[in-house]
Amino acid sequence: MKHDFKFEKTSNPKQKPNPDTLKFGKNFTDHMFLMNYSTEKGWHDGRIVPYGNLSLDPAAAVFHYGQEAFEGMKAYRTPDGNVRLFRPYMNAARSNASNARICMPEIDCELFVGAIKALVDTERDWIPNKPNTSLYIRPFIIADDPFLGVHPAATYLFVIICSPVGPYYDIPGGGLAPAKIYVECEYVRATLGGVGFAKVGGNYAASLLAQMRAVSEGCAQVLWLDAIEHSYVEEIGTSNAFFVINGEVITAPLLGTILPGVTRASVIELLKKWGVKISERRLKIDDVALAAKDGSLSEIFASGTAAVISPVGEIKYKDSKITIAGGGVGPLAQRLYDTLYGIQTGTIKDDMGWTINV
Ligand SMILES: *Cc1c(COP(=O)(O)O)cnc(C)c1O
Repeated sequence: MKHDFKFEKTSNPKQKPNPDTLKFGKNFTDHMFLMNYSTEKGWHDGRIVPYGNLSLDPAAAVFHYGQEAFEGMKAYRTPDGNVRLFRPYMNAARSNASNARICMPEIDCELFVGAIKALVDTERDWIPNKPNTSLYIRPFIIADDPFLGVHPAATYLFVIICSPVGPYYDIPGGGLAPAKIYVECEYVRATLGGVGFAKVGGNYAASLLAQMRAVSEGCAQVLWLDAIEHSYVEEIGTSNAFFVINGEVITAPLLGTILPGVTRASVIELLKKWGVKISERRLKIDDVALAAKDGSLSEIFASGTAAVISPVGEIKYKDSKITIAGGGVGPLAQRLYDTLYGIQTGTIKDDMGWTINV
């Protein structure tokens, strides 16, 4: 389906940032996508306009009751000069699952992906072509209806902004850097029946205090435990967590407290294809610690759009420090990273049918 969105070209194009020193999420492109929703008209007036401030009534529901959800994905430049997206329909479907949970209207998946494609096509010149660079895409939906009172809003705004980004880790030439992770035993991210499976802004506000503590403990990220027993491993920061014990890869099941990562799904599919045993099951942090002690824990890594695969070199759990894979990069993390990153950027043939050209 082809969508014809109105287009207002910027009269004031920005200078593009130096591709060698790109930071994550600091620079934004020249245009953004906007689309309104009202109960009478549904989603309407999709348009690409110059990047700039939004004007909202101070009573807009998003400011008071937090009706907001977002997505995160990337556009990559391939060696032959094409631009491609990685599994964008999964982001569209997940966006709708987030919206439904907080009573926001769903967006037709073809319309969602069509809007992404149209904006990325407009901002083609902003997609850097150095290794380990890409265009990060941030779609989000807010309730812009001006009222005070706790009930679902009647009007919404869908926005897409884009940011050229560099390598997630500051390693010359890119690649993987093992991280230190802090096991959070007090604060929790999500509980059964809550909003943990939805990419809603409030989840991240609620995570900040724990993240600050992890940093003050010398760690890069939090390892979240379940909210009831503070015992089962759930996620690492804003990425999904994988544990390799006795050759079995274990990740938390999607019971409602885990964000269903597109990268997570892709890791699972690749491991199945490779004949590696992969289980979506609950795993106790104490069993991880025991496996580290008896030598059966070989790797821990996290998966997400921003860094693809992030190996964990050390976890800090209560008073003990556990070193994983000798503090280095495990073979499975490396193979997954190389394969996923290769498919995304077009240096490896996409025999999974995961990418689409813009
Ligand atoms: C976005 C996110 C992920 C990773 O999802 P991807 O689709 O792989 O980028 C995992 N956990 C949380 C909490 C997230 O917000």
